[in-house]
Amino acid sequence: MSGQKDHANLFDDARSRLEQVFDAIDVHDDARERLMQPNLALQVSVPVRMDDGSLRVFPGWRVQYSDTLGPAKGGIRFHPDVSQEEVTTLSFWMAVKCAVADLPYGGGKGGVKVDPKQLSKLELERLSRGYVRAIADILGPDRDIPAPDVNTNPTVMGWMADEFDHLARGKVPAAITGKPPELGGSLGRVAATGRGALHVLDLWAAREGRRPEEATLAIQGFGNAAYHFARLARERGYRIVAVSDSKGAIHSRQGLDPDPIMAQKTHNQRLHDMVYCDDSVCIAEDVERLERDELLTLDVDVLVLAALENQVHEGNVEQLRAAALLEIANGPVTSHADAYLEKRGVPVLPDVLANTGGVIVSYYEWVQNRSGERWAEEEVNSRLAERLERQSRLVFERADDEGISYRKAAYRQGIERIARAILLRGNCQDSE
Ligand code: NAD
Repeated sequence: MSGQKDHANLFDDARSRLEQVFDAIDVHDDARERLMQPNLALQVSVPVRMDDGSLRVFPGWRVQYSDTLGPAKGGIRFHPDVSQEEVTTLSFWMAVKCAVADLPYGGGKGGVKVDPKQLSKLELERLSRGYVRAIADILGPDRDIPAPDVNTNPTVMGWMADEFDHLARGKVPAAITGKPPELGGSLGRVAATGRGALHVLDLWAAREGRRPEEATLAIQGFGNAAYHFARLARERGYRIVAVSDSKGAIHSRQGLDPDPIMAQKTHNQRLHDMVYCDDSVCIAEDVERLERDELLTLDVDVLVLAALENQVHEGNVEQLRAAALLEIANGPVTSHADAYLEKRGVPVLPDVLANTGGVIVSYYEWVQNRSGERWAEEEVNSRLAERLERQSRLVFERADDEGISYRKAAYRQGIERIARAILLRGNCQDSE
């Protein structure tokens, strides 16, 4: 089972992790009740006039899991496998993630069930605008703020922000983040998820007394987040020995340079058939082509998961040989596989900490939009580094103090913050 299309148990899996946290920390019963289900789940139909004149209708969702700490916040995904179950689970993870990063946000997520690669650019723009029209009533800078996710990007966010402005009859840049800088997007946002994941890896490696030059990385899912992570990781001295995308994988013991790979991928739309050159010396013969999922079982120091959820599961976890895992994707390891890795003593730097860079810089974009400021990229990056250092240290220390995994420590940190805020809002008095 690839797990990728199977969302049937995704939310149950997430809830069972939540119940384990409740069992481990002191959470008031009322807060438990509130946290077990989303605040709001909206299903919409998005009609799109296709270039050939026909009409197609795509199902979409926006789920606001929690607004206890602030407005809902989370990306929008365009993918043929999107389902309400998946969007709900992703919105739950966003709520935990925003709390772990100590942001004044709840959690939300959106998605449209569509294969965007089958659409022309104009069809994609109509879909993006139609989706915003369909969910506009529940959006806004103080209610719910979308951002990019899988198969959406600054261009799509620019269309969505423009549509929202039309509906609001005015400029509301803080309603959507991840916009192009020309439309009020923050400098540093595009690379923020990868940059943040690298900070977390660096902080952890330093605690372990490991130097980047000593570490090999294999990266599953060479998309936006992974490319920027790979580019910056190589600059830091890590050796990237393998990368994969949905169609295949490549491997080189000498190390891969992400820039020509991304150039080739953009050109060819796939990694498997490409010729790879390093420092202008073509070394195609040194690049081994692998079956896509072979990458997961390579003997490397860190396996970086940056594709989709449920990639490491009951059916393949025993074949993994990586010494540690870094989760850039949301939910790439099922709870069953997670328990197995914990028992084997394989550290996992969890999604709710490792991929917070994107939402942290989205928060900086929202702050800039609301205050009318434009920050230099260096300022954005240094604020990102400071926040991640502070929050990562709390997670690492808690894991050490309580003798638990980094994931458990991060969940306990995030859920405690949300649960405290639920109580402070006065929702939890005894009913009689
Ligand atoms: P993307 O669409 O740019 O990249 C995803 C990549 O994964 C693509 O290259 C795709 O070909 C590849 N892929 C899909 N299935 C695969 C498989 N089975 N094996 C190998 N590769 C596969 O998306 P992205 O924005 O880079 O997001 C990737 C992950 O990171 C998602 O889980 C997303 O939710 C998470 N994330 C992204 C951001 C962000 O700011 N972009 C922030 C936080 C978390």
